[in-house]
Amino acid sequence: MTTSNITTKLPATDANGPPGPHRSGSHRAVVGNRKTRRAIKKVIDARGAEPVLMPVDAVLDGLTAVDLSAVRRQMISKRATGVILFRCGQCNSPVQISSSPSSSTGDGRGAFFKHAYRTPDGCTWHTPENLRSTGAGQFNGNQEGEPHRRLKICLADSIRCDSDFSEPLVDKHFIRIGDGRRRPDVFTSYKGQPIAFELQLARLTLKTINNRTAAYRAAGIALVWVTSAHELSLLNNQAFRDLYLASGGRIFAVDAASCGRSEESSVLHLRELSLEPCVQHPFSIYNRWRSRMVNPEVILMPEGQRHAEGQRAYAAALADQLQAKAPGLTEKIASTVASGADFNLVAAEWSALAKLVGGRDLRQSIQDELPRVLRWLQAVERLNNATGQERAVAGEVVAACAAALVASRTGKHWTSLIEHVADAVPAVSATLSSELRTKMTRLKASPGKLHPFHAYHRHMISALHPWLSFWLLAKAPNGMASHQRLP
Ligand SMILES: [Zn+2]
Repeated sequence: MTTSNITTKLPATDANGPPGPHRSGSHRAVVGNRKTRRAIKKVIDARGAEPVLMPVDAVLDGLTAVDLSAVRRQMISKRATGVILFRCGQCNSPVQISSSPSSSTGDGRGAFFKHAYRTPDGCTWHTPENLRSTGAGQFNGNQEGEPHRRLKICLADSIRCDSDFSEPLVDKHFIRIGDGRRRPDVFTSYKGQPIAFELQLARLTLKTINNRTAAYRAAGIALVWVTSAHELSLLNNQAFRDLYLASGGRIFAVDAASCGRSEESSVLHLRELSLEPCVQHPFSIYNRWRSRMVNPEVILMPEGQRHAEGQRAYAAALADQLQAKAPGLTEKIASTVASGADFNLVAAEWSALAKLVGGRDLRQSIQDELPRVLRWLQAVERLNNATGQERAVAGEVVAACAAALVASRTGKHWTSLIEHVADAVPAVSATLSSELRTKMTRLKASPGKLHPFHAYHRHMISALHPWLSFWLLAKAPNGMASHQRLP
C-alpha cells in the first residue's frame, strides 16, 4: 500500500470558523435567512427517556457535522421501525432535518427542521418552498447515465484482475431480499463471501442508502459503496457526508489509477479518500482529503472497525502535527490541568497553542469554565484506562465532576459535550445517574440562549484530547482536490 497525498488548495479562510474571543464569531453568517429557514421554532424530541419540547436552536446549533449525519441516520432507521424522533412543537406532526445547500458549515448551524409531509392546516410554522431543498434534489437527472456504466465496467475489470474474487456480474445478478429483490451494480464473492458493490453517484438519498445497507446485511451480503473520482467535487453533498462521516471519514473511489494498480498487482485496489486534519497557521485546523490505494484488507473491513480506525487515524494525525509544530505545548498544559494549578501559569503556552490551532484565548476560556471541562476529560481518560478497584474510584470522580459541571454557572452550555462523551465511552455512560441525565435535558430545554461551548472551544479541546477531534472537527473539506477524470 502506498500513500500519496492529493494536492489540496488551502482554504481562503479558516474552514472551521474564525477563532477569536468574540462569541458571535462562532455564528458565521450562513447564506439565506436563518429565521426563515427555521420556521419551526420548537420540536418534540423523543430521543430521551421521555419526549421533551425543545427550542430548535438548542437542538441544532451544537451539532457537529458528525452529529448532524448521525442524527439524520438515527431518524431514518427509527422511522423504518415506526418510531418518530422529532415532531413539530405546534402541530405534533413528524418533522425531518434538512440542511441548506448554500450553508458552508456542514454542521447543525446550517440545519433546520421542516414538516416531513405537507404542512398541516392550522400550523403556522411553514417552511417556504424555495428553502426546502436538502441538497439531494440538485443532482436529479439520468440515474443510469454513461459515466455510471463506465464506472461499473472499470470496477468489474479491476475485480477480474484479482483471482480471490469470483467473476463479477454487472447488473445481472438478482438477490432475493424479503419480499423484494435487488440487483447490485456489481456482484461478486471474495473467498466465498458474497459481496455487492454499489456505486454512489451523489444522487442517492440517505433513506435509499440506509435501506440498501440494511437489506444486504439481512441477506448476509457485504456491501461496499464506491464513488467515482470525477464526482469528488460533490463530496460536500449531504448524502455523501452521511456516508463518509459514518465511516470514520472514509470513502472509496474507482478511477483510472486504481484500475491500473489492480492490473499491475493482480490484487483489487481502490482509491480510498480519508479526512485528515491539517494544522496550519493562520488557517487553524482545516480538513483535507488524504488519498491512498487500498487492497481487499481495507476494502472489506467490517463497518464498525472501519469507523473506529478512521477516527483513530484522524486523532493520530492531529496529535502528530501538533507535536511537530509545537513540541511539548499540549503536555505542559495537560500537566497544569492535572495538578489543579492556576491556569495563568501556562498563559504563554496556552496562547501559543491557541494561536496555532485557532482556539479561544485564556481569558475567554476561563470565563467559559473550560478548565473545569478539561479536568473532567482527564478524569474520563483515567477511568477508561483504570482496572479493578481503581476503576470504581475513577468512576465516582467522573460522576462527581460531571454533576458539578452541570450545576455550574455554564453547565447548560456544556451538556452536549457531556452527553457525547457518555455516548462514546461506555464506562462514562455507566457512571451518569438518570437524575443527572434528566437534569441535563431540562437545562437544555430551559429558557435562555444555549451556547454550544463544545463547538466554540473545539480547537483547544481537540488539541488536548485528540480522541474527541473527529467528532468536533471532521467535516467536508472546503477546497476540493483537483482529480484525474476517468479516460
Ligand atoms: Zn407543525
